[in-house]
Amino acid sequence: MIELEQVSYGYGATPLLSEISLNLAPGSFHFLTGPSGAGKTTLMKLCYGELIATRGQVSLFGQQASAMTRDDVALARQRIGVVHQDCQFLDHLNLAENVGLPLTVSGRSLSDPAEMDDLLAWVGLSAQAGARPPELSGGERQRAALARAVIMSPEVILADEPTGNVDWDMSLRLLKLLMELNRMGKTVMIATHDMNLIRAAKAQVQARVLRISNGQLHQAGVDL
Ligand code: ADP
Repeated sequence: MIELEQVSYGYGATPLLSEISLNLAPGSFHFLTGPSGAGKTTLMKLCYGELIATRGQVSLFGQQASAMTRDDVALARQRIGVVHQDCQFLDHLNLAENVGLPLTVSGRSLSDPAEMDDLLAWVGLSAQAGARPPELSGGERQRAALARAVIMSPEVILADEPTGNVDWDMSLRLLKLLMELNRMGKTVMIATHDMNLIRAAKAQVQARVLRISNGQLHQAGVDL
């Protein structure tokens, strides 16, 4: 679905990622780890066409990202749900409207309005549907961001530090939701520096753990 071949990237003259190869196969579950500043977010951005590799090839659903038009990228992005680290919302819209924004932007609507109720119930935010983003807690914002990422029924979910600002119980709750998505057949990649989260997941799902260090991607061993 998403494949990187010998990909390098740098923001300036110094390379940040070098010769990275990665294949996000359908239904796979990956963790991406590494210290802060290692390049996890950058790698995620390469995976959804936000950044274009300086060297190497990125293929999004069989198309070379470097040869894609803006429209091609926009179409590919509809198949990739991204949970951003900072999960920003439009404060003048309520939670349900924010979650539905990707549909609004692409000129679509839910075939059945009850789907929004189901989605909000799934992330445990039914009672907050009418709330404005500033009224939400950190955990509620993260779950709303996850709901927004899946509203378009993407095939791939890329979550960047989805448990960054929440306590352990909420981290497990978010992890459970992501594992459920994977069980439904979605391809999932989670960037996190939380090794406890990875251990908790590995007990329940077959996940591949990749670590970025010194600009390179390594498969982490079993000794997590
Ligand atoms: P991580 O997600 O692992 O913390 P990032 O991919 O966010 O790492 O960042 C990797 C490095 O690239 C950091 O040193 C960061 O400061 C730098 N960086 C990230 N975004 C930009 C940018 N837009 N311009 C210049 N440098 C950037």
